[in-house]
Amino acid sequence: MLQIIEVRKNVLAKNDELAAANRALFAREGLTAVNFVSSPGAGKTTLLVKTLTDLADRYRCAVVEGDQRTANDAERIAATGAPVVQINTLSACHLDASMVARGLTALDLAGLDYLFIENVGNLVCPAGYDLGEKMKVVVMSTTEGEDKPVKYPKMFRVSAALLLTKTDLLPHLDFDADKAVDCALQVNPALAVFRVSAKTGEGFDAWYDWLAAQRG
Ligand code: MG
Ligand code: ZN
Repeated sequence: MLQIIEVRKNVLAKNDELAAANRALFAREGLTAVNFVSSPGAGKTTLLVKTLTDLADRYRCAVVEGDQRTANDAERIAATGAPVVQINTLSACHLDASMVARGLTALDLAGLDYLFIENVGNLVCPAGYDLGEKMKVVVMSTTEGEDKPVKYPKMFRVSAALLLTKTDLLPHLDFDADKAVDCALQVNPALAVFRVSAKTGEGFDAWYDWLAAQRG
């Protein structure tokens, strides 16, 4: 048992080393890296497609997409015109720093303002893997349980912002958005919270203002 614990420690120590190298590279290139995390189906790709489209004339952005299989999400991102690389993690349920480093070799980082990393849909272990990003942004949708933040607190604790997506569905749901936000703030009072709908555009201006303030 002790040996298993030791192996796990070494894996995370190695990941931290590689994440530090990614972070140094991002600093040299003067770009801001944001790691988007959520459970599957929360709307990360839709959020990124809208963000990339709306910010296209303001910033140069590229995307690293993580999924176990397929390039479906990368194809949606590519349709916006943003450079994108798809990483298929196969058996792994999260991105790690070495996977991101390999993905970066396929992108031209020069002149980029933002690198958006869409992690594998999973609210558990992506919380424990530093990819070298400046911050994690957790995405949660109105079709989930309001108590997700207290059930999976680590992800909400390590994130700088919460995007509550699909607010256009609220009239059709029993979901209590205030309760969900309360749960999230209970876990992490410093979270910046944005209630957004990619369908109606609600909340996106505030999200873009916050994103702009994170640069550098
Ligand atoms: Mg996706
Ligand atoms: Zn995992």
